[in-house]
Amino acid sequence: VVARLKSSGLFRTKGLIGGKWIDAYDGKTIEVYNPANGEVIASVPFMGEKETKDAISSAYDAFRDWSRLTAFDRSSRLRKWYNLLMEHKEELAQLITLEQGKPLNEAIGEVVYGASFIEFFAEEAKRVNGDILPSPMPDRRLFVLKQPVGVVGAITPWNFPLAMITRKVGPALACGCTVVIKPSELTPFSALAAAELAIQSGIPPGVLNVVMGDAPKIGNSLLESPQVRKITFTGSTAVGKKLMAGAAETVKKVSLELGGNAPFIIFDDADLEVAVKASLASKFLYTGQACICTNRILVQEGIYDKFMNAFSNAVKSLKVGNGFSEGVAQGPLINEAAIQKVESLVQDAISKGAKVVVGGKRHNLGLIFYEPTIISDVKNEMLIARQEIFGPVAPVIRFKTEEEAIQIANDTDAGLAAYLFTNNIQRSWRVSEALEYGIVGVNEGLHAYEVAPFGGFKQSGLGREGSKYGLDDFLEIKCICMGNM
Ligand code: ADP
Repeated sequence: VVARLKSSGLFRTKGLIGGKWIDAYDGKTIEVYNPANGEVIASVPFMGEKETKDAISSAYDAFRDWSRLTAFDRSSRLRKWYNLLMEHKEELAQLITLEQGKPLNEAIGEVVYGASFIEFFAEEAKRVNGDILPSPMPDRRLFVLKQPVGVVGAITPWNFPLAMITRKVGPALACGCTVVIKPSELTPFSALAAAELAIQSGIPPGVLNVVMGDAPKIGNSLLESPQVRKITFTGSTAVGKKLMAGAAETVKKVSLELGGNAPFIIFDDADLEVAVKASLASKFLYTGQACICTNRILVQEGIYDKFMNAFSNAVKSLKVGNGFSEGVAQGPLINEAAIQKVESLVQDAISKGAKVVVGGKRHNLGLIFYEPTIISDVKNEMLIARQEIFGPVAPVIRFKTEEEAIQIANDTDAGLAAYLFTNNIQRSWRVSEALEYGIVGVNEGLHAYEVAPFGGFKQSGLGREGSKYGLDDFLEIKCICMGNM
């Protein structure tokens, strides 16, 4: 697979600035590893300030013409990009599995999900409508125009290396903005392949630039530049806070998709089969490495034993291995630091009284594979219930009443996704309204669609991606008053 991918026209190993594929100016590179076997896939440029400044200039220059195209013209180019992404679905998915480790069917799912943002925002490009307002003065008329903010800096993580880019670039380009993307250095290849397809679809040089290398230097260059008018970021809460603080100096718009701590609440009146199936997906899809993955399973005492029994059997059946192998449901974690974090959270919980029900240690495949794990007797004060696990570990907390479940669910600084399972319609409304979360699933585990707003309350972030609301963050509102009519 690797040799075939490398010889395909989509395997790019350079940055993209002003329509040209470019090395770091000082020739420095950084190696990218396949997490499933530890082998080096290839090296990419280790860029910094100078390259980022040039990428910003290219984006700034390109903004003039790109923002003046008709929305119809931008829309048709985005539509072409969508078509190319879908035509190259298999190769893009293989690149994702290679660099990120997720099972190939999940990677194909990511390509389809990622491409859907380009299609959706190609359509939405034509719906950036203004307003005419009633004037308080008889000789005046008031209008509202919506205009693109300008150059956007987009910083994305490794867990959805393609989709986190298209979810930002789709609406940005649709509005008429231009972008400088910094993908994760752990997973640059699917991003670069998507950029290559963007060029092929007629998106002009400079409209989309890709730099990678020294993350803090690239981040600071984006923050310091007065030409960059917006930062859009998906990643850790710690880095998100730094970016928000840094953006204050030049008063940029900021959109943040940060960490979650998703509760998955199962009430006594839930359908057991539905709850087990959904909890398996919600916790173990992407090997637990999505910000909307379940982080805590809250189970009411009346259904507790039945649930634990069925859930344990389901978790034991998950096949762990290389994402390219048939039937594998759990890939490796992304790197050694990630698996050490999982280990330390599990150890901390055990030392404070939690019990291992299934798994609980590194997988005998070695490297950075971890066993699908369930731990019981978890308390919400334990680190594992307060931090984002980002791995295949399901901590289970037992509760008695609805009020207690809501209190535990909301007792966190995060507020991205929450799930509840009940067949009582009044309870489903009551609890949905009480949860301090941006995304709620009722009898539904993991959901993210291009048509639906994605984003969190509290320290899970600012702004919403996807849906009709996803354009707002890339637009300025201008009020024009025409007088002396
Ligand atoms: P994760 O835990 O998901 O890797 P990070 O926040 O560390 O989350 O990484 C998300 C993205 O932010 C990556 O592209 C990473 O390189 C980038 N990043 C990390 N530190 C900084 C920084 N100081 N400034 C700008 N970007 C950063």
